Amino acid sequence: MDFTRRQFLKLSGATAITMAVVELGFDDKKAKASTKEFKIAALKPTPTICPFCGVGCGILVYANEKDVVYTEGDPDNPINEGTLCSKGTTVRQIFTSDKRVEKPLYRAPGADKWKEVDWDWAIEQIAKKVKDTRDRKFIATENGMPANKVEAIASMGGAALDNEEVYILSKLMRAGLGLTYLEHQARI
Ligand code: SF4
Repeated sequence: MDFTRRQFLKLSGATAITMAVVELGFDDKKAKASTKEFKIAALKPTPTICPFCGVGCGILVYANEKDVVYTEGDPDNPINEGTLCSKGTTVRQIFTSDKRVEKPLYRAPGADKWKEVDWDWAIEQIAKKVKDTRDRKFIATENGMPANKVEAIASMGGAALDNEEVYILSKLMRAGLGLTYLEHQARI
C-alpha cells in the first residue's frame, strides 16, 4: 500500500494518540465488552443446538420479539465449551438472511420452476404419497418368513433433531411404517 507523506503523518499521529490513551489506562477490552453487554443486557439467552452438522455444538441465542440479536457458543455445553466453527458462528443468518425459505416449495412433475405452497397442502401430499407407496410396496413375507417391511421409502434425519426427536422418528419409521432404510446426519 502506498502512502503520501501527509497520509503517513496522519496515520502516525492517530497511532500515537491511541497508544497514549491505552498507556494512560483506557481499557479497550472493557469498552468492547461493555458494548456487547449493552446489546444483550436485557435479553435472556436460550440454549439451543447448532443445526449445521452432527457435532451438535451448543449455542446461546439472545432474541427479542422481533429479532435474533446475538448468538454465541454455549460455555456450559460439554461438546464445544463455548467455541463454534465458522458455520456455527454465522447461525444468526438462518433468521436474518433474505435467502431464508419460509414456505414449502413444490415443483410439479415436468415443471421447471418451484412454487410456494402452504403447509397443510404440502403435509397432505406427503401423507398421501407415503400411504400410497406403503400400500403398494409393503412386503409381508420374505423367504417364507414374516418380513412386514417397506423398502420403497427411505427416511433422512438432520442435525437439527435432538436425541428424543430422533428416537420418536425412528420408532415411527420402523414400527409404524416398517421402513428399513433410515439414515441420519449425526448417526444417533
Ligand atoms: S458449530 Fe460447527 S462443528 Fe459445531 S455443530 Fe455447528 S457446524 Fe458443526
